[in-house]
Amino acid sequence: MTDCLFCKIRDGQIPAEIVYQDEDVLAFNDVNPQAPVHVLIIPKKHIATINDLATDNAATIGKLYLAAKHIAAEHKIEDDGYRLVVNCNAMAGQTVYHIHLHLLGGRRMNWPPG
Ligand code: AMP
Ligand code: ZN
Repeated sequence: MTDCLFCKIRDGQIPAEIVYQDEDVLAFNDVNPQAPVHVLIIPKKHIATINDLATDNAATIGKLYLAAKHIAAEHKIEDDGYRLVVNCNAMAGQTVYHIHLHLLGGRRMNWPPG
């Protein structure tokens, strides 16, 4: 997609602090971190929201979680714990319409979320 912020990061048109990538997944630090560790993990393929998922995206979505596990271990937060969040559409607070998994850690999280 041409007018998507995260596609532009994927294509190197907008800079980002990339912390992980493989064939299907890219992860970079959130520009406005909400915790000491705040990484966004995206599929390289443009998918706007969770509502747009198709059955053949299942493996790619699974890889987002495998990347999260890997990044959490790199930050040594896997035992203390961390939170994974996907916002879907406006009421949940989605602002970038390219699916992304937020990995948040390094501080105690509140529940219920705001
Ligand atoms: P969401 O509100 O769930 O759609 O999350 C979008 C996230 O993208 C927010 O946490 C923003 O801080 C983050 N963000 C926006 N622009 C950039 C950027 N250029 N590089 C990295 N993260 C960004
Ligand atoms: Zn995109």
